[in-house]
Amino acid sequence: MSKQMVPIRKNDEIDVIFEDLTHDGKGVAKVDGYPLFVGNALPGEKGKIRVTKLNKGYGFGRLLELYEESVFRTEPTCPIFAECGGCQLQHITYEGQLKAKEKQVRDVMDRIGKLGNINIHPVLGMENPWHYRNKAQVPVGEQEGGLVGGFYKQRSHEIVNMEACLIQQEENDEVLQKVKAICNDFGIRAYNEKNHKGTLRHIMIRSGKVTGEIMVVLITRTPDIPGRRKLVERIVSEIQEVKSVVQNINPKRTNVIFGDQTHVLWGEEYIYDTIGEVKFAISARSFYQVNPEQTKVLYDKALEYADLHGQETVIDAYCGIGTISLFLAQRAKKVYGVEIVPEAIEDAERNAELNGIDNVEFAVGEAETVIPKWYEEGVEADVLVVDPPRKGCDESLLQTIIEMKPKKVVYVSCNPATLARDLRILEDGGYKTVQVQPVDMFPQTVHVECVAQLTLI
Ligand code: SAH
Repeated sequence: MSKQMVPIRKNDEIDVIFEDLTHDGKGVAKVDGYPLFVGNALPGEKGKIRVTKLNKGYGFGRLLELYEESVFRTEPTCPIFAECGGCQLQHITYEGQLKAKEKQVRDVMDRIGKLGNINIHPVLGMENPWHYRNKAQVPVGEQEGGLVGGFYKQRSHEIVNMEACLIQQEENDEVLQKVKAICNDFGIRAYNEKNHKGTLRHIMIRSGKVTGEIMVVLITRTPDIPGRRKLVERIVSEIQEVKSVVQNINPKRTNVIFGDQTHVLWGEEYIYDTIGEVKFAISARSFYQVNPEQTKVLYDKALEYADLHGQETVIDAYCGIGTISLFLAQRAKKVYGVEIVPEAIEDAERNAELNGIDNVEFAVGEAETVIPKWYEEGVEADVLVVDPPRKGCDESLLQTIIEMKPKKVVYVSCNPATLARDLRILEDGGYKTVQVQPVDMFPQTVHVECVAQLTLI
């Protein structure tokens, strides 16, 4: 649509009906086919908006008044919902959120994957969609001489203090408040990004959902922390569940959180947690799923879709710290895992040992390079599992899969759009998408995870 054809002007106030929700949670209204994206508006609602921005093919507006509310609208539970931006869907009931996520998956499968008639199940949600996160990571600042820690106000660098986060495990909030108070008592200065002075940049708390073990990580600009020994003693004596206190040093002018140096100040290098039957050692820098309860749901589904009977060879591409590999290994003859981050593979090997699982082999490298090599060496996979980052699988990996012809492919995805794109490529290469199961790993936010099962036809 050319600029001349845009049917409205900036600052126009118009009445609209919202038809849809974008993948980032905005309402969509159309004026003569021209889409306008509006925050805090839900499908089915009618309201008055002011047009705030016009681009070539779409524009933005601000909601001024609601005439008719959706049955799925609800009052956000969290008092800082609008300021924080960490959750985007708290104004939608949980039932409404699950429906919206299902529709989002259906839409991209149809539009991007041209898979209009595949079997997509309703989203598997949580019974209690709050307090699920096992990791809190907050920036630290100063206000009126005291330390504050919480979140960056949306579109700014201002740090707002946060006492509770409703999607965080409650013990993480309590520990975080205590650590902030103790650091304040010791006169620790917050890092100031303007003049690159001060000490404490971020505080991270991790907890094991099943074990209750807690790790406190202090991310500092300098190697020194004033009064360090006494400070750590206080943390350990006031917070019983703490098993590990770690310092990470990030001396750089950057908004990347972690630096390269990490060392233990007190206790263990790891805390432990279990998902199902498998035990995991989690270090300060390990990647570990943030919603352990739903991770179990997701991995159980991946295992069901892999349909293992004990005799299969399985490849787990993008294996991280081996979480899915170790789950699969319990039911397969042999599992090969590949992952690009060397530290993650060290963790994967440690986790295999920790669980006495010896039918797994891990390799560091790109999935798209290592898997063709395994193929040349004669590894014949019956099942191939992929769990790539948001950008999806490298196309050459998909071509290798098509050549290798594993009987089943299980695709775990955190981005339905790239999943749909990749499923189309696999379908064109001789696979059939049997079913797609969306899982709600991140209630109250716009994210949705899926697991898809494909068979060779
Ligand atoms: N399956 C794991 C991790 C999935 S996250 C779990 O469930 O915990 C995706 C992983 O892919 C990350 O660990 C990332 O480091 C890795 N990765 C990214 N690009 C890759 C590539 N080209 N080859 C192999 N691994 C890659």
